[in-house]
Amino acid sequence: MVGGGEGSFIGQVHRLAAEMDGMAQLVCGAFASDADRSRRSGVSMYHLPASRAYADYQEMFAMEAALPEHQRMQFVVIATPNHRHFEIAEAALQAGFHVVCDKPVTLDVRQAEVLAGLVATTGLQFGLTHNYTGYPMVREARALIASGALGAIRRVSCEYLQGWLAVQAHDNKQAQWRTDPKRAGIAGCFGDIGSHGHNLIEFITGEAITSVCAELTTFVPGRALDDDGNVLLRLANGARGVLSASQVAVGKENDLSIQVYGELAGLEWRQSDANSLLVRWADRPYEVRRAGWPGTSAVSLAATRVPAGHPEGYLEAFAELYRNFLLHLQGQPHEGYPGIADGVRGMRFIEAVVGSSAQGAVWKEV
Ligand code: NAD
Repeated sequence: MVGGGEGSFIGQVHRLAAEMDGMAQLVCGAFASDADRSRRSGVSMYHLPASRAYADYQEMFAMEAALPEHQRMQFVVIATPNHRHFEIAEAALQAGFHVVCDKPVTLDVRQAEVLAGLVATTGLQFGLTHNYTGYPMVREARALIASGALGAIRRVSCEYLQGWLAVQAHDNKQAQWRTDPKRAGIAGCFGDIGSHGHNLIEFITGEAITSVCAELTTFVPGRALDDDGNVLLRLANGARGVLSASQVAVGKENDLSIQVYGELAGLEWRQSDANSLLVRWADRPYEVRRAGWPGTSAVSLAATRVPAGHPEGYLEAFAELYRNFLLHLQGQPHEGYPGIADGVRGMRFIEAVVGSSAQGAVWKEV
């Protein structure tokens, strides 16, 4: 792992998710930008031997590449702030390691395209943790739409509302870099969580978002990046949609929800009740599908680890991406996971949204 040191957020989630199914084990890391903190984090947080808690990722890639194949790490997890993703992923691929990277994949489209080129030429695997696609009922929604049960998709709305950046949080490590363009990229809220909404819409509907008309807003005085925004969407099949994301929706936790309506039926999913999928029909009352029940799709059952009703959630969905990534590494059949192509499309989406908003909410192709 690179990143995930003392006081950080997502590194621990990656470790739990990667190890959940007993298919992977954290064996080494460079956990912080400061060498002492990196080594200390490896030993005290992750209980690694000191010899494999490295000072930085350059040392880690060199030392690990020199180990005999059966001892060396096989893939690297990148859990640093956004501005470091590109250099670390590029170095990992060049050193012959597969990559799992957190989102947004890079700072701009060009960097993402360079990584896509490297993935193609090395033949190495690249996973991108758009973790919401791992929920059983999100997979059920995708399978239902792919089966044609909704008919042609006409309308999609997706909302991702948080409140934790409603005030300037100077003492919050996670807030500091997310509101700094040098470390976060050209978008704040839309890079951080709007990017998840983009990926979720494309994953569930199976349709690309082809153009956007966006209004991004910065409500908190002195903040350099957007903390709220609304985007009109056109999808490849002619469907229309709206994506709203906010980090100033006071009191909201991680309220992610999506609705999709086709010619024949509609569906609704919300993270706060993640194991339910509501399906609306034209000629009968709505139906609630629940994770883990017979009659739901094989792909949603495969993403369910315990009998229906035992709460499964964020960590298990995150682990579902890892399970499929690891099956792929083992050469076994798998259900797929977001990859570098999603990363490139995600960066094009962010650039189109920011460009649209900057020009007064004009339509932009993605
Ligand atoms: P954080 O600030 O909590 O942690 C970042 C960690 O990276 C820190 O330990 C820091 O010391 C370390 N780091 C920085 N530069 C480094 C370097 N050069 N080498 C080694 N370590 C270095 O950030 P976070 O909230 O955990 O976010 C990290 C990444 O994960 C971001 O890209 C973010 O967008 C993404 N993220 C994704 C999700 C998700 O749901 N998929 C959720 C949260 C964060």
